[in-house]
Amino acid sequence: MAFDLPDLPYDYDALEPHIDEQTMRIHHDKHHAGYTQKLNNALEGHDDLQDRSIEELLTDIDSLPSDIRTPVRQNGGGFYNHRLFWNIMSPDGGGTPNGVLATAIDDQFGSFEDFQEQFADTATGQFGSGWGWLVAGSDGALSLTSTPNQDSTLMDGQTPILGVDVWEHAYYLNYQNERGSYVDAWWNVVDWDAVGRNYENVASA
Ligand code: MN
Repeated sequence: MAFDLPDLPYDYDALEPHIDEQTMRIHHDKHHAGYTQKLNNALEGHDDLQDRSIEELLTDIDSLPSDIRTPVRQNGGGFYNHRLFWNIMSPDGGGTPNGVLATAIDDQFGSFEDFQEQFADTATGQFGSGWGWLVAGSDGALSLTSTPNQDSTLMDGQTPILGVDVWEHAYYLNYQNERGSYVDAWWNVVDWDAVGRNYENVASA
């Protein structure tokens, strides 16, 4: 069994000027590739786990043999988080959500602008390396959270539908220590159609 590093759904330079080509190359080809390889290494020899999806592995992490629980949490989380991250960005991104997601965001946060402000506060407030998330519970309820390292919100029963990587490797070349400037720019590449599909998949599950 092996998980495959997914290709980026656009060119390395497609998200410029908001995210630069070199950052995307290193981020995908080195970091995401590394998590994928180390996840596969951890699962090697565990034939009983071969039918499990990455979502199943992370959701039920306590069921894993204790010797691979930490590497799957770290590298499986890295594999899953980055796959989602590439897919919720697009060179045609930006703007505002639509459909049921737009309604749910307004209901939960008051307005899209209030949501953006709270999301940015959550992401920039994550101490050290991690992620900022918009998540949905099994009932479709939206909330904001952050996770350290590569922890997945699936471990807490929350499905991530939008996430921003706030590890320095995601922004340091272009933004140095200015995490807030990176998050401000990142809104310009968020693919709200993709986020909306992620939300509808949770709501209809
Ligand atoms: Mn990353």
